[in-house]
Amino acid sequence: MGFTLWFTGLSGAGKSTLSMHVYLEIRRRMLKAELLDGDLIRTNFSSELGFSREHRDLNVRRIGFISHLLNKNGVNSVVAAIAPFEQAREQNRKLLDNYVEVWCKCPLEVVEARDVKGLYARARAGEIAAFTGISSPYEAPLNADIVCETDRETVTASVRKVLCALEERGFLPKADDCERSDYSKFDEQAWRLRLAELGYAKQR
Ligand code: ADP
Repeated sequence: MGFTLWFTGLSGAGKSTLSMHVYLEIRRRMLKAELLDGDLIRTNFSSELGFSREHRDLNVRRIGFISHLLNKNGVNSVVAAIAPFEQAREQNRKLLDNYVEVWCKCPLEVVEARDVKGLYARARAGEIAAFTGISSPYEAPLNADIVCETDRETVTASVRKVLCALEERGFLPKADDCERSDYSKFDEQAWRLRLAELGYAKQR
């Protein structure tokens, strides 16, 4: 039985960055894993859905069910999806035996200043409706298993925190060389290349 590691948080809070590093590290330690990125799922699996609460929850439940199928077959699921509503997250916790929730916790001012994809500026300008944090709510997780304060921690520290938590739960074998890894040094282009090698490029 596999586990589901779900990164939740505002846009720009660090879900993609952390999920990519953790996913690659899980694979490096010879476990089967699939990366379910919220944007890719929307494009390939939920393209008919919009951003109402109902549609967001449906998308989150779909990702939960895919994870359930993967986990049942021994494949771990690493999810990076905002999942803004507590009730839908808790439904997945009930559905999935080995559900581990990571809250990428970062104040709105910081993610807005980062504006990684330029979406906050567009949301403020009224070009994107129902944008999480601006015109649609993000409910802070009540039961997160791991909290990464991404405005205070380095990427390396956050990745290590998640890997250690998986090791403690017996989901991930320990690696001797993990302490020496500096995950911050792999820039985004490097991990996108690595993911492309693993077959993710086609889905973008
Ligand atoms: P999301 O996927 O949640 O929209 P991204 O991962 O695309 O967010 O962007 C997060 C940004 O924050 C990146 O530029 C990343 O380098 C930066 N960052 C700084 N510290 C951290 C951390 N501890 N964890 C994750 N990202 C961090």
